[in-house]
Amino acid sequence: MKKYKINLKNKLSLYDLIYKDTLTNLGNYKYFCKEGSKIIEKKDKSPKYIFIIDIEKFRTFNQYYGHEEGKKLIKQLSIKINNIIGNLVKILSRFNNDVFAILLETNENIETIAKKIFKNLRQVEIENKLYNIYPIIGIYKIGLKDDILTALDKALTAHDEIIGDYNTKYKIYDKTNEDNIIEEHKIEEIMESAIQNQEFKIVYQPKIELKTNKVSSCEALVRWYRNGIYISPSKFIPLFEKNRFIIKLDKYIFKQVCKDIKIINEKIKTTYTINFSINISKEHFAYENFIEEYIKIIKQTNVPINIIELEITESASEYKGINLAKIIENLKNKGFKIALDDFGTGYSSLSMLQELNIDTLKIDKSFIDKLETNSIIKYIIEMSKDLNIKTVAEGVEKKEQVEFLKKMGCDMVQGYYYAKPLNLNEFINYMNNLQ
Ligand code: C2E
Ligand code: CA
Ligand code: CA
Repeated sequence: MKKYKINLKNKLSLYDLIYKDTLTNLGNYKYFCKEGSKIIEKKDKSPKYIFIIDIEKFRTFNQYYGHEEGKKLIKQLSIKINNIIGNLVKILSRFNNDVFAILLETNENIETIAKKIFKNLRQVEIENKLYNIYPIIGIYKIGLKDDILTALDKALTAHDEIIGDYNTKYKIYDKTNEDNIIEEHKIEEIMESAIQNQEFKIVYQPKIELKTNKVSSCEALVRWYRNGIYISPSKFIPLFEKNRFIIKLDKYIFKQVCKDIKIINEKIKTTYTINFSINISKEHFAYENFIEEYIKIIKQTNVPINIIELEITESASEYKGINLAKIIENLKNKGFKIALDDFGTGYSSLSMLQELNIDTLKIDKSFIDKLETNSIIKYIIEMSKDLNIKTVAEGVEKKEQVEFLKKMGCDMVQGYYYAKPLNLNEFINYMNNLQ
C-alpha cells in the first residue's frame, strides 16, 4: 500500500483549501461559521454584530467591464473593508462573488460604523480608474441565544430587504423584517387566486393639460381589495416584481383598461379623445415576446394604439443589462407612446434623455414636494422642451405648485390638487361634470 507523508506544508494547504478564499486571502464561508461559532459560544456580554456587505449589480459590473476587472474590484473591496474596520474585526470572510461577511465586537455606535463603510466603499480605484459602486449592508446584533447560522440568516435578511433601494445605505435587522417575510409569503399564496376572484380593480387618475385646463389623459393604477380589505400597491408591487407575478398582473390590468376604454368612450361627453397611461414593469423586458402579447390585446379589444401610453420607470435603464433604448424604439414602432416614470429618483442622468425616444417625462413627486429643487425642475423642463418631450409633474397637491409649474412651462399635472385616482364610474362622472 502506498503511504502518503503529510508534512506541515501540505496540512496547511489542505486547511487553506477548505477555509480560505484564494482571491482575497480572507476566510471563506466555512471559516466564518467555524470561527464564528467559537466566538458566539463564549456568550460573554460584549456586543457582537454580523455585517453582510455586497454591491448592487455586481453581475452587471462583470458583464460590462469583464471578469478580470471584477476580480480586481473584489480585491480592492476586501482591502478597503479591512482598512476601515480592521481593529474591530473578529472575522472577515468572503463568501462568494462580491459577498463579504464580518463579525464585529464593539461598543462603538454601529450606525456610525455602517455609514463609514458605506461612504468608503462608494468609490473604488482600480489602476487609476475610479468606479462608482453602491454597497448594500445588512446588519444583525447577535443575541445570546443565537447560533452562528441563525445570526447569519438574520443579517442576510436585513441585507436582502434593501437590494435595489438606492435611498437606503444600510439596514439593521429588526423583527418587523421577519413579519414582512411572513406577510410576503401569505401574499404569494393568494396572488394567483386574486386574479381569478377579480380582486384587482383599476382606478383612473386624471392628468390636466396646463395650457388648456383640459383633462387630456389619465393614468390607470391598480388596487387590490381582498375580502373588503385594501392592500396597498407599495406592499405588493415590489414583491410581484421580485417573484415576477407582475408580468401576469400587468397584462391583466392592460387588458382590463382596454376593455374599460370602450365603456369610457361610450359614456363620456367630451369631444376630444383622452389618452390612457398604463404602468408596465421592467420585468417584462427580459421576455422578447412581451410586445407581441400586448399588441394581441390591442387587436382583440380594438383600441386605437395611439391613445395608449406605457409608463416605464426610470430605474429600468439600469436593469440587468437590458437595452432600454431599443425596447422603447420597438414599442414606439408599434405605435405606443412612452413615458419615463419617477424621473429623478434613479441614477440616470439628463443626458440619458437624448438617447431614449420617449414622448413624456414624469417628474417625480419628491421634486414637486420640495421648493428647494425649483432650479432642477426648471432645468428638467427646459431640457425636455429642447428635446420635444412633454413634461408631467406628479403628486401635485397645492395651488402654489400649479402656479409654479405653469410659470415654468410644464405641460401637464397629476395629483390630489385636481383629483385622486377614481374608479370607473367616478371617473366617468368626473369627466361629465367638467364644463
Ligand atoms: P406611480 O406610477 O408613480 O403612481 C403614482 C402614485 O402616486 C399612485 O400611488 C398615486 O395614487 C399617487 N398619487 C397621485 N397623486 C398624488 C398626490 O397628489 N399626492 C400623493 N401623496 N400621492 C399621489 P399608488 O396608486 O399607490 O401606486 C404606487 C405605485 O405602484 C405606482 O407609482 C406604480 O409604480 C405602481 N403601480 C400601480 N399600479 C401599477 C400597475 O398596474 N402596474 C405596475 N407595474 N405598477 C403599478
Ligand atoms: Ca406611473
Ligand atoms: Ca410615478
